[in-house]
Amino acid sequence: MTREARKKGKPELLAPGGSLEKCRIAFLYGADAVYVGGKSFSLRAFATNLDEEELQKACALAHSLQKKLYVTVNVYPRQHEVQSLIKYLRTLEDIGVDAIIVTDPGTMLLAGKHAPSIPIHLSTQANTTNSLSVHFWEKQGVRRINLARELTFGEIKGIREQSSMELEVFVHGAMCVSYSGRCLLSAAMSARSANSGECSQPCRWSYGLMEEKRPGQYFPILEDSMGTYIFNSKDLCLLEKMGNLMAVGLDSFKIEGRMKGALYLAAVTRAYRQAIDSHWQNPEAFVASQAWITDLSRISHRPYTMGFTFSQNEDNWVGVDFETPIIKTHTLAGIVRQALPMPSAKPSLLFSVLLEARSRLFKGQTIEFLFPDGNTIPFRLDEFHDEEGNTLQVAHPNMKIHFATPFRPLKLQVARTLLSEGEAARHNILP
Ligand code: SF4
Repeated sequence: MTREARKKGKPELLAPGGSLEKCRIAFLYGADAVYVGGKSFSLRAFATNLDEEELQKACALAHSLQKKLYVTVNVYPRQHEVQSLIKYLRTLEDIGVDAIIVTDPGTMLLAGKHAPSIPIHLSTQANTTNSLSVHFWEKQGVRRINLARELTFGEIKGIREQSSMELEVFVHGAMCVSYSGRCLLSAAMSARSANSGECSQPCRWSYGLMEEKRPGQYFPILEDSMGTYIFNSKDLCLLEKMGNLMAVGLDSFKIEGRMKGALYLAAVTRAYRQAIDSHWQNPEAFVASQAWITDLSRISHRPYTMGFTFSQNEDNWVGVDFETPIIKTHTLAGIVRQALPMPSAKPSLLFSVLLEARSRLFKGQTIEFLFPDGNTIPFRLDEFHDEEGNTLQVAHPNMKIHFATPFRPLKLQVARTLLSEGEAARHNILP
């Protein structure tokens, strides 16, 4: 790690917060900052975005933990939306969020006037690919830039050497085949604009083939029984390259996924938290631990790639996976709502846990508690009860169940469980 990189301080881990609860989970698992969408002017229109009251709560929570809350305002607003945008920016100014994430220059102008105390972070959709663009945006008052995801590691390093501005890169999450997220496919095919956060993901639909002389006659193109995946971008995963990225002196590492669930958020945030801390403590000895890699393999994901950043010139660069729509071996078992010491505890069963089930859970099933410090503790559900104290053989999603454990999980901690063979097969699991 260069002296300049260390002087800049430990880089930030920036996680997605699709809801107030997800903000809490992201902070619990080690995020330094969380980015969220408000109910208006945010991409990811279908994430459970936060209303004004929730934004206030999320902001207060972040500040109580000495952490940060950023709000996405990264649509391209139309003329008729300007007045409501001004109102929204004033609201964010009053709440005191730590930054807004913006793409549109007009929005920047409005933010400078109506939310002057909020720093502006430039979205990856602005497609910043060189140091001259970085300087340009710096002159416009932008505090931080999320660099274009099409850049190679060498290009990122080159930009870092030419600028002292705050630089952020995506390290993990879903990608799509469009250029820096600019795409008309969804608007054209389903009248839902990707640039307004309404992408219907037609790139992942199933397509057929039509021969010129046989108009209207379609031929299926099948890779397997579920269809074909010609535009199915792999998921980005730069965990194993965190040493290289840390050494460059970047300011923030961003995780994609405001639409993703609690298990994804917890597992990915803690894996990258551990990686950043481990490298910061001892850069020379840094190696991506098998436990972190296992965590990332046990969330629902497409095959991983190091994207443009590290694999562009390698023989194995394939950004699109033609064969596998999704890999899913585990699922969210539940979220801990409470864990209290038991008044008359047997030595081996010390805590009474209240878990909100998110999957069907059976007597005898093993669930794994993900602790924020990196530990994972398996636990067999030999005996559990409903809220009235009735013994259960099975719990259904959204039921709250009680059981006793010899360890104390934290409130909002997540537990995962292995999918049954049948459920796994539905997601087209590769062996
Ligand atoms: S349609 Fe596909 S390629 Fe286009 S923005 Fe949506 S996810 Fe990306």
